[in-house]
Amino acid sequence: MSLTFGSKAKLNNGVEIPWLGLGVWQMSTKETLEAVGHALMVGYRHIDTATLYGNESEVGEAIRKSGIPREQVFVTTKLWNNDHGKDRAPRAFEESLKELNLGYIDLYLIHWPVAGLRNETWDALLKVYKDKKCRALGVSNYTIKHLEELLSRSELVPAVNQVEFHPFLFQRELLDFCKKHGIQLEAYSPLTKGKRLKDPELVEVAIKYKRSTAQILIRWALQHGIVLIPKSSTPKRIEENSKVFDFKISDKDMGFLDTLHENFRATWDPSEIP
Ligand code: NDP
Repeated sequence: MSLTFGSKAKLNNGVEIPWLGLGVWQMSTKETLEAVGHALMVGYRHIDTATLYGNESEVGEAIRKSGIPREQVFVTTKLWNNDHGKDRAPRAFEESLKELNLGYIDLYLIHWPVAGLRNETWDALLKVYKDKKCRALGVSNYTIKHLEELLSRSELVPAVNQVEFHPFLFQRELLDFCKKHGIQLEAYSPLTKGKRLKDPELVEVAIKYKRSTAQILIRWALQHGIVLIPKSSTPKRIEENSKVFDFKISDKDMGFLDTLHENFRATWDPSEIP
């Protein structure tokens, strides 16, 4: 797979999503404006936000200020847990649309598989999708069990499942399941929230390729066919994280990185959600 920064993955409805984007969780409003502005300036065309992050409005503002045509930037946002339900979900979507103020949303995700409500919410959002208010509809934090349930009852296969994914949480079965069903897996916390960047075995690989450990983690995900959204508020790191298209990790080293799996989670574990 020969990728460039501009390369995009094709979702199951034909919509294209840039393989590498910028995540903006835990950025202040000021940081969001600056980081998104900088990312767009250095070539990012994909931003991942959520209602929960409280910075949709700044994401929209930074994109508008950049002068880059709207259709060249891919924007994801997500429905938070208190917005589930057939009446609330479409309203939450409209609120995000208003906050972003970009005319439309590229990808809208159910942030979390809330028990008892997620199916009703999905059905309500299906109508939003059919009304062409968002270009793609997907889910986040869905395990195989949640996806099987959804697939058994929905006429639409989710375009994306966004989950925590990195070598220390190498969810191979979930990745295979998503590939088999045409669901694009998207990695969040792909840098382990910074918690494993000094892992000695990872450092060894980074030294071998003369790259940072963050760059190795990003390249590893890309070579597994995963879309990803590392977060950084630091201009230098935003740039560093995009410089991953001029080298390739060998099959042998990919195999080695795969063995780093230790079921480590930097965030929450959705597997207990019935
Ligand atoms: P990441 O794994 O992307 O790690 C972010 C941390 O790594 C920050 O502390 C950042 O610091 C640091 N960092 C970034 N680049 C480098 C680098 N090159 N060298 C050293 N440190 C670096 O964590 P996130 O949890 O933020 O995940 C990314 C995105 O995924 C989120 O922003 C959000 O958009 C999404 N997400 C979605 C979730 C969901 O439930 N759907 C859950 C969690 C995240 P600094 O900013 O100071 O540079």
